[in-house]
Amino acid sequence: MSVSTYVFTTSDGEEIPVHVAARRGIRNITLRPKVGATREIHISKPWLVRDAAALRFLELKRRWVEGVFGRAPVRERVRPGMCLEIFGRIVAIEHDASQHSNTYSPDGLHLIIGGGADMFERRLRDVIKKEFVSEAKKMIHTCPRELWPRRIAVKDTTSRWGSCSSTGTISFSWRLAFAPPDVMRYVVMHEMAHRRHMDHSPEFWATVSELYGFGVERAKRWLNVHGGELHKFL
Ligand SMILES: [Zn+2]
Repeated sequence: MSVSTYVFTTSDGEEIPVHVAARRGIRNITLRPKVGATREIHISKPWLVRDAAALRFLELKRRWVEGVFGRAPVRERVRPGMCLEIFGRIVAIEHDASQHSNTYSPDGLHLIIGGGADMFERRLRDVIKKEFVSEAKKMIHTCPRELWPRRIAVKDTTSRWGSCSSTGTISFSWRLAFAPPDVMRYVVMHEMAHRRHMDHSPEFWATVSELYGFGVERAKRWLNVHGGELHKFL
């Protein structure tokens, strides 16, 4: 396999590296835009197809490719000293390699991540995930006991913020930690309402309102408008 690298410039001026790889045994050109921590485009082409043809193919698919990158925000690295909004609080994230554990300052305004610098973001993500589960549990415990799930799972999905299985597991995207607490509470109550109705019937929405109170539409709108921003960090 041989790989050549080019640059794709979006109409917004973002420059995205393009890796073109020739492979034996394939018949078509395939495009894979990669979004996330590194943004790049991978093209596989049959051995005998020229790079120029592969790049022309990319140009033909420009609208689709730009759409994929446009919907995914540029991932920003979290560095010590930055502030993040977590569960509606502004928290300064710090790093102390001499410390083994991760700790909040007593006032909760600083979160000090221990361990090596290479583990910084991963440990921060783990702290937030753990805190997410305990915040979600607090919200769940405000609901009638018969609705409590058997199990809570955290995921990192781009397509949905929560889900409820017929076996009684409720799953959430831990990234709701970056949303206003009332928006997270809406998603929790939405999934709790599925414990009673496994559909989106009027009876289901009545249960959501009963559990959440006033403002369901506002929370839904917030997620539609700002949901993508929850993928900016980590
Ligand atoms: Zn639903």
